[in-house]
Amino acid sequence: MVCSHHHLYSALARGMPPPPKTPGSFQEILEQIWWRLDASLDAEMIRWSAMLGALEALESGTTGIVDHHESPNAIEGSLSVIEEACREVGVRVLACYGVTDRHGADGARRGLEENRRFISEGGNGLVGIHAAFTCNPETLEAAAGLAGELGVGAHIHVAEGPADRDSARHLKGLTDERWLLAHCVQLADDHGLAGTILHQPRSNLNNSVGYANPVRFANPVALGTDGIGANMIEAFRLAYVMQRSVDVTATPETAWGWLENGWNLIPECRNDRVTWSYDPMDPWHLAFTPGVRPLRIEVDGEVIFENGSPTRVDATEVRAKAREQAARLHARL
Ligand SMILES: [Zn+2]
Repeated sequence: MVCSHHHLYSALARGMPPPPKTPGSFQEILEQIWWRLDASLDAEMIRWSAMLGALEALESGTTGIVDHHESPNAIEGSLSVIEEACREVGVRVLACYGVTDRHGADGARRGLEENRRFISEGGNGLVGIHAAFTCNPETLEAAAGLAGELGVGAHIHVAEGPADRDSARHLKGLTDERWLLAHCVQLADDHGLAGTILHQPRSNLNNSVGYANPVRFANPVALGTDGIGANMIEAFRLAYVMQRSVDVTATPETAWGWLENGWNLIPECRNDRVTWSYDPMDPWHLAFTPGVRPLRIEVDGEVIFENGSPTRVDATEVRAKAREQAARLHARL
C-alpha cells in the first residue's frame, strides 16, 4: 500500500491542547491548529513524529509514504530527518517541503532551498508547495521552475477549502502530469490542471469542507490520509462508501483503482510483499470486512514486519520517545 498524501509531522498532534478559540471554518482550523503546530516543531520533534508515523504505516501494511512537510522554524535539513526516520523503520518515503509566503519572502526562499538541497543530494523528493492561496505568484513560479529544473513534479494542496477556491487560476500553465494535487474539493470539473489528484475523504470530513467526488475529474486519482495515520485499507473503505453516498451504483473497484494508483507515485512499492490477515484481498470483500491487518511485510526482500511487530525498531521505544516529544510540543502550544 502507498499513502499518497501524508503529513508525518502531524503524528504528535493527537491530544494536543485545544486552541484558544474553537475554529469556526477551515481557514481557522489552519490558523489555530496546524500553523501554530508546524511553527513549534524542531528537529527532534520532526524525527520522532516521522518515526511514529512510519511505524504506524508499517503496522497498517503501508510501505510507501508520499509526505508533505512544513516546519517554518526548522526548515534546513528537515527532509533528511524524515527520510532517515522512515529508512530506520523500513518504509519508503517521497518527501517534499511545502513552500509558502506565510513567513515572508525569506521563509519561501528557505523552503525552496530545502527542496533543492534534498533532491539534488539524491533524496527521493518532489518540490512542495503549501497552497496557491498562501503563496504569491512569484513563489509559485519559482517552485514550478525548480521542479522543472530538477526533473520532478510538485506536491501542493489545491482548493481544499473556500479560501483556496481560485487555485486553478493561480496554477494555470504551471502544472504537468508529474504534479500531485491534494484535495481539490472546491475545484471545478474542467479545472485545466495536469497531475494526479490526491483524495483524502477522512480529512475532508474532519475539516467540514465537503466531498471532493473525484470521479468527476479526468485526472488520475490516488488515495491519501492527510496525516491521519496511513491505514490505506481503511482509507479505501471510507472512499468507497463516500462515493456510494452520492451514487448508489458506485462499486468498490473505483476506490480500489485509486489505491492502486499510489504505485505510480512510489513504483518501488511494487517490489514489496505484504501477507494479510484476510484472503481474498478483493475490493468487494474488503469493503465489508473490518480489521484486516498485515501479518508479514517484506521490503526489497527483507522482512521488516512479522508477528505484529517491526523487525528493525522497537515499537514500544518509538512510542515512548514520540510521547516525550509530544509533551514538549504540547507545552509550546
Ligand atoms: Zn495535506
